[in-house]
Amino acid sequence: MKLLPRLKVAHLPTPVEPLPRLSASLGGPKIWIKRDDQTGLALGGNKTRKLEFLMAEAQANGAKTVITAGAMQSNHCRQTAAIAARFGLGCILVLYPVDDSGAAADDLPPLSGNLLLDHLLGAEIVLTRRPERDANLERVFQAAWDAGRRPYLIPYGGSNPTGAAAYTFAMQEFLAQNIAVDWIVFPSSSGGTQAGLVLGARAFGFQGRVLGISVDETVETLKARVASLATQTADLLGEPFTFHDDEILVNADYVGGGYGVAGPGEREAVDQFARQEGLLLDPVYTGRAAYGLIDLVRKGFFTSEERVLFWHTGGAPALFADRYRDWLS
Ligand SMILES: *Cc1c(COP(=O)(O)O)cnc(C)c1O
Repeated sequence: MKLLPRLKVAHLPTPVEPLPRLSASLGGPKIWIKRDDQTGLALGGNKTRKLEFLMAEAQANGAKTVITAGAMQSNHCRQTAAIAARFGLGCILVLYPVDDSGAAADDLPPLSGNLLLDHLLGAEIVLTRRPERDANLERVFQAAWDAGRRPYLIPYGGSNPTGAAAYTFAMQEFLAQNIAVDWIVFPSSSGGTQAGLVLGARAFGFQGRVLGISVDETVETLKARVASLATQTADLLGEPFTFHDDEILVNADYVGGGYGVAGPGEREAVDQFARQEGLLLDPVYTGRAAYGLIDLVRKGFFTSEERVLFWHTGGAPALFADRYRDWLS
């Protein structure tokens, strides 16, 4: 496998820990957790790994500014702001509210959660609405280019082959930790995490299965996205693998009210992990995926002899967002 330019930022390997009290209370498989919420960059998360590669590419291109986009409480945007600060680059974030209420997006909402951290980390924030996000991103990029700021565009969720490659190496890291599991379960959205993991599974011989719990997409859309991205990532890394939609495992039964809409299932998962194990999940991604895991255990999807790894992808700063105050109280 080819090596790609990479910055050393993340605290790796992230720990793998057993969850004995949660496993016992569910009475199902033995559950383990991999702590990518502890990657060490401004409260951590899965985007830190991707940004080690994306930022190396930005630097190789002579970038002075990085630009990316996401929802108002985006963890990806917070980590991008942090790594830009760390390497002395400017950072512009194009942010939009998750609910496309017709309201004008001119006013910055109260600073809380990830948005507060974006501000502390010195990012410039441009507001948009979701349907206009691509057009605005292009406009912001062009304006930065015209101003001589040498911008570099980081895609949504850091999910292009360069970003996804980080999770191929993360799979290699996990296999070297020598904890045999039958399943790896985690939240999947822009697909880079899952694409990297399935490629790593094939390249490094993981014997178990890699199950993404969809955060916001249908099964068909997410499978197609992950298969295509995994194939492109293999190509980038010089591996002759292709991936087909039907070999990507996705469960989209837990998308509920859509992206960022936390319901009773996410709340139950956040409570269980907090009270059984002292672990913090988030309302958008890991709360949803952990609820999927809990529900699948209850439905007997896993046998009690199986071992399941929950890959914690981060996101807990959103617990402190105004948006989730009522839901948590
Ligand atoms: C971005 C994100 C994900 C989803 O990862 P993708 O690679 O976009 O599928 C999961 N969990 C958290 C906390 C995230 O911020």
